[in-house]
Amino acid sequence: MHPPFRRFWSRVYAIVAYYLGIWPAIYALRKLLGKKPLLTVFTFHRITDAKSSGVHLVTYDKGTPRELFDVQIAQIKRFYETISLEEFTEIVTGKRTLQRNSALITFDDADSEFVSQALPVLLKHGCNGVVFAPTDFIETAKRLWHLRVSNAFHRIDEKTWPKVQALARQFPEDKQNWLDNLDHRNREDLATACWRFNIALDRMSEEEIEIFVERLETITGTEYELGIATMTWPQLKQVRSAGISVESHSASHRKLARLDAESIKKELLDSKSLLKKELGVGVAAVCYPAGSYDEHVARIAADAGYKLGFTTQFGFIDYPLDGIDLLTLTRFDMRGNNKYEVARFLGELPVRQPKKSWPLKE
Ligand SMILES: [Zn+2]
Repeated sequence: MHPPFRRFWSRVYAIVAYYLGIWPAIYALRKLLGKKPLLTVFTFHRITDAKSSGVHLVTYDKGTPRELFDVQIAQIKRFYETISLEEFTEIVTGKRTLQRNSALITFDDADSEFVSQALPVLLKHGCNGVVFAPTDFIETAKRLWHLRVSNAFHRIDEKTWPKVQALARQFPEDKQNWLDNLDHRNREDLATACWRFNIALDRMSEEEIEIFVERLETITGTEYELGIATMTWPQLKQVRSAGISVESHSASHRKLARLDAESIKKELLDSKSLLKKELGVGVAAVCYPAGSYDEHVARIAADAGYKLGFTTQFGFIDYPLDGIDLLTLTRFDMRGNNKYEVARFLGELPVRQPKKSWPLKE
């Protein structure tokens, strides 16, 4: 059968099996046919209180509502055994055999609402997991650039809006009129404007991003009212003592593949040593910010002493792995927009990770 059709039907089977509750039988059959159990890493970002997240404009800031996260974790638990980073490491390094479908739950950016929203749900379901923390943002006034953009858009008023529109006219040619026909008083338009501003900057170099964010803040004011931050050290310690690993998400959260070798090394070493100093435990894993990595970045990570590197590439993990591949592990990004998300991914169960993934798009 032609591959897209085969994939279509295997998705249909998986989803039907899921809703009929006969997945364990299908799973047993797969095992009998000699298929290996699955190893999957799920990615989450912000888990939020649905009542208060309504004030936010863009998807990232709104996060995944805690109630939905609860449903998603329950769905994951139906099909997977959730494992710790230590167990995951033993599996991928061949020290432990994979007996059943196993999932590692990961959280990027170490969001400040993790302790109040995500942690209680994880504990309720008996899950552990990993939090990836960008260390420059812990207990400092620094904020991820996209949060600074969101904050500025929250502050836009009658007076500042034309100036922000004028700033956007300095975007690369195809995006210069992106904010022109939008009305800041209309919430949907304002959200679109904020989103477009993010997209335009995301394509720029790190230096250009900083220039644009600074100019935006000069217009709207720099006071940070958004409320979204990175966890503090006491919070990260609390997370650790609940059995969740805290690992590196670089120091500055810049796109590593865009930096020179020296800066990449510094990002990886500084974050690693600060986490070790503050939390008193070794750091073995890094998650490349904004999914930006290449073979060069992965090599530097290995040289810096990292055993595992997590990307935003979509896929199951083809184990056992060796060498550089452990530094380019694939994941499933949970966007948190509906409760069928896990089912949708389970519908893609037969889709395998591509063998080689270079070069990568960002
Ligand atoms: Zn991140």
